Amino acid sequence: MTNKLHIDGQWVGGSGGAEDPTFDPATEAVITTVARAEVADVSAAVAAARRAFVDPAWRDLSPRDRAALLFRLADLIDAHADELARLETLDQGQPLAVSRQVSVPMAADHFRYYAGWVTKIEGAVNPVSVPDTFNYTRREPLGVCALITPWNFPLMIMSWKLAPALATGNTAVLKPAEQTPLTTIRLVELVEQAGFPRGVVNLLLGDGAVGAALVEHPGVEKVSFTGSTEVGRSIGRAAADTFKRVTLELGGKAPSIITAGADIDAAVAGNLGGALLNSGQVCAAYTRFYVDARREDEFVSKLAAGAESVRVGPGMEEGTVMGPLVSARHLAHVENLVEVARKEDAEIVTGGARARDTGWFYAPTVVTGVTDEMRIAREEVFGPVLSVLTYSDEDELASLVARANDTDYGLAAAVWTQDLRTAHRLAAGIRAGSVFVNGLPVPDPAAPWGGFKASGLGREMSHHAVDAYTEIKSVFVNLA
Ligand code: NAD
Repeated sequence: MTNKLHIDGQWVGGSGGAEDPTFDPATEAVITTVARAEVADVSAAVAAARRAFVDPAWRDLSPRDRAALLFRLADLIDAHADELARLETLDQGQPLAVSRQVSVPMAADHFRYYAGWVTKIEGAVNPVSVPDTFNYTRREPLGVCALITPWNFPLMIMSWKLAPALATGNTAVLKPAEQTPLTTIRLVELVEQAGFPRGVVNLLLGDGAVGAALVEHPGVEKVSFTGSTEVGRSIGRAAADTFKRVTLELGGKAPSIITAGADIDAAVAGNLGGALLNSGQVCAAYTRFYVDARREDEFVSKLAAGAESVRVGPGMEEGTVMGPLVSARHLAHVENLVEVARKEDAEIVTGGARARDTGWFYAPTVVTGVTDEMRIAREEVFGPVLSVLTYSDEDELASLVARANDTDYGLAAAVWTQDLRTAHRLAAGIRAGSVFVNGLPVPDPAAPWGGFKASGLGREMSHHAVDAYTEIKSVFVNLA
């Protein structure tokens, strides 16, 4: 496997000759080094993508043939599933069970799902009142899309973006997170093997400076970004200058409401799964647990027992349920927020410390006595930390909804109840892009995904992504 940039169909080193290491979070060892892009490489990649956009080899490809390329890419991901899963686990840290059952199959699913869309992107005939006039709409690709991804699910999140971008006829410049470049490099090798014309998919490696240069580049028509709210805000501002289309998938602080009548065992299992998947490094992770005070003791003791029984270890070890955090820096961020909670008089029921001497492991942590104002209840931890808050009167759904909504974020939420009316009333009241009733925060390509408020702008997945990667054109034909 290469460690280079991919520009105009060529694998090349960065023009400055620099390389950056990427680490195994389970051992802290350097896995390999990869090329670092410079501003000149950003310009070359955008120029290549612009040429490819108007090249008949891509532009004039029939929908059937474009779909076939996407289907072939999905098949290649399946054919290399084990290799990709191992690479993701090595670079990102997630257990093999997660990379095998979630990251890689979901990547293939997205290419297959959007391959199906290619032959179904329709316009409309519009009932205009202008005499003797025929009006129809066309959905056209935007041009060059900059696809910038975070380190938590590198392959899967890049696929969420690349699949609809290509299905709608755009070209792309990819910029994976500097902490986890490896599966994106491999994906681009598979793109090449699938037979996409040269320049349609380009790859830049490097840190936020490379991402920023891409966002500012006037040759880019669209930016799709997943990452922190802070960077999302700066991208929104930078994109405004050149009227770029923007999709932003940002941070989250999902509430999980456990009603008095909930099946507590199911809620404990679901919330542990929803909070600890990928060590809590999931934008939709359940983090604020609102429990009816009458069920708190039972819920907390079962939650703590469950958290203590989670097998923490290197993702590569079969049987590992929770791996390390992605980096030393991120581990320090999680440690700091738990220390702040301790100082604010929250109680650490279990965890609250590193889980191993080597590797960036943090123990599953349950915190009680959390109030709405504490930083642990307000800031994104993005780690294996479960904060329990209580409420006393379930009949006051309105105040519960207000507490759940008392956050800048609005990506996901969960409700645990056996009462249909409560489920639907809470689902309607909570301001979040996705609400999960009695279930895990797992997306699906057919359902829209994205955030309210500071959790983002626009939606990925489903037909909404087709809209997000196309421009609509209205054609008036004078028939007189
Ligand atoms: P980050 O914002 O630091 O980095 C994300 C990506 O943006 C990286 O590729 C990085 O190099 C690049 N980048 C950094 N600065 C940039 C700039 N100024 N201009 C352009 N690109 C820049 O985020 P992170 O720490 O890698 O990821 C964690 C965050 O991502 C969390 O806040 C999490 O909630 C969020 N996230 C959201 C979703 C979602 O679907 N909403 C999914 C996964 C992660």
